[in-house]
Amino acid sequence: MNPVSIASISAELAAQRVSALELTDQALARAEHAAALNSFIRLDADAARGAARSIDAMRANGSDLQPLAGIPFAHKDIFCTRGIATTCGSRMLQNFVPPYDAHVVERLAQAGAVSIGKTNMDEFAMGSSNESSAYGAAANPWDHTRVPGGSSGGSAAAVAAGIVPFATGTDTGGSVRQPAAFCGITGLKPTYGRVSRYGMIAYASSLDCAGVLARSAADCAVVLDAIAGFDARDATSVERPGERTAAALSQPLAGLRIGVAREYFSGGVQADVADRVHAALRELQRCGATLVDIGLPNAHHAIAAYYVIAPAEASSNLARYDGVRYGHRAAQARSLDELYSLSRAEGFGAEVQRRILVGTYALSAGYYDAYYLRAQKVRRLIAEDFATAFAGVDLIAGPTAPTTAFRIGEKSGDALAMYAADVNTVAVNLAGLPAISVPAGFADDGLPVGLQLIAPAFAEARLLNAAHQLQQATDWHLQVPAGTP
Ligand code: GLN
Repeated sequence: MNPVSIASISAELAAQRVSALELTDQALARAEHAAALNSFIRLDADAARGAARSIDAMRANGSDLQPLAGIPFAHKDIFCTRGIATTCGSRMLQNFVPPYDAHVVERLAQAGAVSIGKTNMDEFAMGSSNESSAYGAAANPWDHTRVPGGSSGGSAAAVAAGIVPFATGTDTGGSVRQPAAFCGITGLKPTYGRVSRYGMIAYASSLDCAGVLARSAADCAVVLDAIAGFDARDATSVERPGERTAAALSQPLAGLRIGVAREYFSGGVQADVADRVHAALRELQRCGATLVDIGLPNAHHAIAAYYVIAPAEASSNLARYDGVRYGHRAAQARSLDELYSLSRAEGFGAEVQRRILVGTYALSAGYYDAYYLRAQKVRRLIAEDFATAFAGVDLIAGPTAPTTAFRIGEKSGDALAMYAADVNTVAVNLAGLPAISVPAGFADDGLPVGLQLIAPAFAEARLLNAAHQLQQATDWHLQVPAGTP
């Protein structure tokens, strides 16, 4: 059994062999010890200890507590936390203290989980390496000269380094799955609409999804069950009452058909990455699944469509940062126009400015039909590819990312090379589907490889069931970087 699973920690807490306060102190000490990873933008030791003490008091009083009660974790700094600075990895929001909690923050607080702080991330979740953060790059716990992936790089590094058993993330084009793959952990992106986006700082609203980074599929299931569910404050939130994925993990996989998508193994996929993913698929076969060769003919258009639609939506969402109401305000402005332009020039980093320029251009009169409308049509074709494939298979599989974690600085000067890191993940967001990245061993360079499994909309239970069965049969997800407590 996984010695660090949420279920085992929960059992220790329930038996009062350990207290929430002790676990919180331990997580805070580990975060301090691993400060070189730069995985946190801030630690909130006092608030965390206060929350832990109140859970311990409730337990001592015999209160009925949920499975996450007393478990330390961390929030990606994209989730608004009442009274606690929320930067979104940007200088723009350096001093922004939200007056309210995000839905995900509320839910995890209600479940009794103890947030120890806010994790590092690419600025406004734009990136695949965590290098666009205004608070500096984060490092990969497996090799500190490598990126942890992005944009939820801090969350992935914090889990992989054993600081916390799970962390929240967001996934607009791969930002939960790709860092999970690079850091050798499990990352779940739910169906669009499954988890409310209320209070999650917007990047590309039709693609943004809250997700979970944890050690295993079973742990992801517990957290998903806590954060999923209808919320009237998000107009795209979907009502699906009474679904609990954590209860559905032990189904045998006999009869499960897994479509192996040819396109996900083509192009720039590292040979040893493809090899490890095929080995993981053979394990799933041993668990009873059938592998079926499938094609997703429009897969190679996904990056182009995504990098029109995401910047278009970002240019609109980020128009709110004008130096007037909140966020960075330029000190030297002499006119209203200058207040806008200087505040934005000073507050936003290079990648965010690039996305705003691209998005504004793609939406402008004369270009809208050529770029934005066309990208939306391609988006439809990509969704139809998945629908056609799911008529014949239950899940779709491939490598999460084409390579293992690259070196810090290796791609930061080449936007297109960076965008190519998302080649196998962005289509899932364009179609709004749930997907998971699970560890699939190590490439020849010793770095973790991730297997991506994709399910039809709202089939998270099937997805987590397959991932859990794989993890029952293998121990890749139990491997930790040297020096991990
Ligand atoms: N790397 C992709 C981008 O930069 C995806 C980011 C994300 O999922 N937030 O847009």
